[in-house]
Amino acid sequence: MRYKLTMQTEASKVRRVYYYISLVLVVFVFIVFASSHFAALKRQEDETVARLEATVLNTTKAYLKDAVDRTISEIDLERRLVREEMGVTPGDAEAERRADEIVRSRMIVRIRETRLKDNGYLWVNEVVDFAGGPRYARRLVHGFLPETEGMMLSTEVIENGSNPYLAELEGVVRDGETYTSYYFAKPGEQIPSPKLSYARLYPDFSWIVATGAYLDDLDKVVAIERKLAEANHNERAASSVFSLLLALLSVVVLVIVVDQVTSKTIAASYKRILATEKALREEKHKVEEAYSLMKELAERDELTGLRNRRSGMNRLMIEAARANRSASPFCVAIGDIDLFKAFNDTYGHGSGDKVLKKAAATMENKLRLEDMAARWGGEEFLLLLSGDDLSAAMEATDRIRLAVSTEYLEAKGAKIRISMTFGVAEYVKDERPEDLIARADAAMYRGKAAGRDVVVAAEPPMPTS
Ligand code: GH3
Ligand code: MG
Ligand code: MG
Repeated sequence: MRYKLTMQTEASKVRRVYYYISLVLVVFVFIVFASSHFAALKRQEDETVARLEATVLNTTKAYLKDAVDRTISEIDLERRLVREEMGVTPGDAEAERRADEIVRSRMIVRIRETRLKDNGYLWVNEVVDFAGGPRYARRLVHGFLPETEGMMLSTEVIENGSNPYLAELEGVVRDGETYTSYYFAKPGEQIPSPKLSYARLYPDFSWIVATGAYLDDLDKVVAIERKLAEANHNERAASSVFSLLLALLSVVVLVIVVDQVTSKTIAASYKRILATEKALREEKHKVEEAYSLMKELAERDELTGLRNRRSGMNRLMIEAARANRSASPFCVAIGDIDLFKAFNDTYGHGSGDKVLKKAAATMENKLRLEDMAARWGGEEFLLLLSGDDLSAAMEATDRIRLAVSTEYLEAKGAKIRISMTFGVAEYVKDERPEDLIARADAAMYRGKAAGRDVVVAAEPPMPTS
């Protein structure tokens, strides 16, 4: 029961530890996974928006450049056409100059009227001094503010901390083209908005042909795209949260299922252990029983059920040891069935065995509890009479002799009687048990010689010198 309780306590302790560890692990993994996952999602969103911004900007830049490049191609084409029309001879500088004048005036009109998408337009600044300065160029064409045409421009103008005209001039001188960002009022508005422009130098005319787009328009596009990206991100985050919760639920279910299965297994093995323990206990009991039976058998004579010679001798030695320590006397008697050989010859061995059994039972019955009877040899018996001196033992043995010899036996239909002859010897302190028995044996033989069916007292032992 105690063992059972201990096992149950152990099992519930293990189970508690299992749940604690599972809980800590699940929470830990969940936190680590969720934080890294959401950080990755956020990073993805930022990257998407940045890519988008770059794409929108690049598309716009390409559009601006394309508008300016087309215009410059038109100038080239127009120059060829006009020279053909006028039949200008190549190398005739004066004729070429006049042809270019016509081209300029035609292109000025055409550029002024050109409209791009989103109210876009072009403008042309004619450079007077490539070194820059307060009058470095003249505004030749302006698609949106034609009334400002003819005004002189300065590289010294500073708008919102930057110097757009200077930046543009330096850019086109260096690379032939440039992108510049600056501030300029939108059509119909007073406050200037941030603007990106593309400008390309047409060196033959000293023209800077340019166009631009408002950056806050790009921002609007980006903002719309950003919103879309955010919505997408939120959707993904929501689905991630759902997946995570699902995973968490699965893990919790798994933890519980594992616990249930192991608990069942533990309960089953526990039951098996108990059953095995019970079986072992029963087995042990059986073995013990068999062992005590074997011990009993080893000490018993098979035919008569009395103690055998070895067991009788053991008992005798114990009695002698006890007598040596106390003043209490004891005697032994050797009894031998009379003329037993003749009985066997007449009635058969089987009847002889019956006689042995009967005599044994009679002697056992007549003895006191503290006495003992053993089968000493074929038809010889040893009696131990505890606490008796010689005369008391003689009396007791004679009662036994009488009981044996007055009993009738059935053999081959005949009623017969047997007799026994006894020799009795009283133990003398420190005498060897074999010597004691030898004295009783000798007395018994004297009884045989005297005519049998008698009890004879043994001689005291020879005094040792
Ligand atoms: P005495 O009176 O002088 O003792 O004569 P006896 O015939 O008894 O003596 P003896 O020693 O000559 O014979 C003993 C006989 O006891 C011989 C044997 O057949 C018999 N005997 C010994 N053990 C057993 C046994 O276990 N069963 C049977 N049936 N007979 C036994
Ligand atoms: Mg004999
Ligand atoms: Mg005999």
